[in-house]
Amino acid sequence: MVEAIIIKNGYVVDPEVSKIQKRDIGMLNGKFIDPTIIESYGADISYIDANGSYVAPGFIDIHTHVFKDYTTLGIEADKVGINQGVTTIIDAGSAGLDNYATFKQKVINTSKTEVLAFLNISTKGLCNEGGELANPNDLMASEEARSIFRTEPSLVGLKARMSGSVVGNNGLYPLLHARKLADDLHVPIMVHIGNPPPLIEEILPMLRKGDIVTHAFHGKPKNKIITPHQELTSEAINCLNRGVLFDVGHGAASFSFKTLSIYKEKYNYPFSISSDLHVRNYESPVGSLMQTMSKVRGLGYSLLEVVAAVTMEPAKTLHLTEQGTFASGTRADVTLFYETDVCMELKDSEGEPMIVEKVIEPYLTIREGKKVYESNVGTKSQRN
Ligand SMILES: [Zn+2]
Repeated sequence: MVEAIIIKNGYVVDPEVSKIQKRDIGMLNGKFIDPTIIESYGADISYIDANGSYVAPGFIDIHTHVFKDYTTLGIEADKVGINQGVTTIIDAGSAGLDNYATFKQKVINTSKTEVLAFLNISTKGLCNEGGELANPNDLMASEEARSIFRTEPSLVGLKARMSGSVVGNNGLYPLLHARKLADDLHVPIMVHIGNPPPLIEEILPMLRKGDIVTHAFHGKPKNKIITPHQELTSEAINCLNRGVLFDVGHGAASFSFKTLSIYKEKYNYPFSISSDLHVRNYESPVGSLMQTMSKVRGLGYSLLEVVAAVTMEPAKTLHLTEQGTFASGTRADVTLFYETDVCMELKDSEGEPMIVEKVIEPYLTIREGKKVYESNVGTKSQRN
């Protein structure tokens, strides 16, 4: 039997047409299709009444750590994936060449959430805790990289954590190496910025179009994208003009309301929102991707902008053609959510509180045209 779903009465948030409007969304055999022609396929149609809620392309979280049981940070993928309205999760360098087969077997193949990955340029990934780039002998070789990227479609790019506690005495060397690998493979690098060395002034000029700077809006005393005059550094502006994507990567220590507010006040470059969720920040301060979106929303970004930051923007940068879109014929991943009126205090990684008046709450997740998660969280809520 041909399986079809039509979502009716919802407010469809579609960043690709920059609109929120009431319309139906159709799905047939796991793909999006114009709902007005579904009947002509003789399909058995089930209907979802999304009255009072929002309907968006499935959310993508491009920075998480889900290599559970093999890294101390790893959290269960579905817990922060489909159960929180996230249909695609990208693990940011938990696995490296040596343990990717295990990651694939234990996480990718067993999760209902789509799991993709940035491969750590350290062959060990985060399986020996941190400091993975302190020994140059652990860097993945070009031939090794070529071979694994040829055979693993779940790999979207490389991960290089460029901060003092990770690179030890190697300074920029691991990033030079990552640059060489990325140019050879034609894949992006996700670079984590944090405490120096190396300096952000040295890191940013090495990034090209399509690369991603995660933890971009951190509030640490050094290595910020914002100058003491509350403007973007010239290196940051040049980077953004070249098409590098800045990413939130909330985490326990890497998202400052103040930094993002300054950015918002003066600049209009698109960015992505990710959580950096793992077991040590899940309870606090991160919670979920949607809670991170609620914080960004609390700083004054529109609903359309925060949804674009977890759908269209990351999909475009990573050349994901099946995700982050409602385009006809692409994979039908959908996130249904409420925006609930509240008066709630949420904190950034600096412990800075903000009172938010709305929170985004998932209640139904669809993957490949099938319901994979439904909660009762939103049933009492109403869109206002
Ligand atoms: Zn991380």
